[in-house]
Amino acid sequence: MEISFVSKRVLVTGAGKGIGRALAKRLANYGAEVVAVSRSKEGLDSLAAETKNIKTICVDLSDWDATRKAIKSAGPIDCLVNNAAYASLESFLDVKPENFDMMRLHEITRKSVINVSQVVVEGMIQRKKGGSIVNISSQASQAALADHTVYCGTKGALDMVSRVMALELGPHNIRVNCVNPTVVLTDMGRLGWSKPEKANPMLAKIPLGRFAEVDEVVDAVVYLLSDKASMINGVTLPIDGGFLGT
Ligand code: NDP
Repeated sequence: MEISFVSKRVLVTGAGKGIGRALAKRLANYGAEVVAVSRSKEGLDSLAAETKNIKTICVDLSDWDATRKAIKSAGPIDCLVNNAAYASLESFLDVKPENFDMMRLHEITRKSVINVSQVVVEGMIQRKKGGSIVNISSQASQAALADHTVYCGTKGALDMVSRVMALELGPHNIRVNCVNPTVVLTDMGRLGWSKPEKANPMLAKIPLGRFAEVDEVVDAVVYLLSDKASMINGVTLPIDGGFLGT
């Protein structure tokens, strides 16, 4: 299957490292003009130095107004990947209302998805050319994971936000889908899963017996973003070696 993003402008959030960085590079290799958005300047600078066709925007997505301004400055966007997030790990009994991390996680995982998407979608609707959005969710949206109270909650909400987006934006020929990976050993993945006592019980529940590779997530996102998935809208696609399906 030949996939091309020539003449497409694609915005990827959280592109400074991990899955977002690999995705930005792959899309640029497929001919896209990529707008890479992230919080830390170092990651963005090195990404732009390594890859052609990448424009960078440095913004903290938890800041609503700064984010809106930054995304508007990106110009017309054909495809969007809401990828940025961070993990806040605590057991259910340790979650406190004043927990700053919890509020920030909600801001980034749900509010920024809505904020960024609103700005991008306004332009898509005005240009009447449709578009494609992929939100990076997680297996944690559909399975209870110990110490992931807030993370599971935010990703579960993200799945439903995405489905409503698919419902409301479909008539504008804008498709919205989620991918739901299992553990990927990026910086974030290593935080929760690098210790054998955490990793091994999870690995035992994955029929393929391993965690996902960054490129396996990138492959699925690229497909859903592309015209090859032109009739796929509103799905939550597990990339989990069978964890959720068995
Ligand atoms: P990483 O921690 O490797 O990268 C996250 C990226 O998001 C970084 O570039 C980070 O910027 C950016 N980011 C975080 N907060 C903000 C913010 N407030 N404003 C702007 N940018 C921000 O994570 P992964 O690549 O592992 O995760 C990518 C996505 O995949 C996330 O949505 C995650 O929930 C999801 N996922 C990950 C899994 C895993 O096991 N790794 C499993 C399932 C889903 P900075 O460089 O400044 O930190």
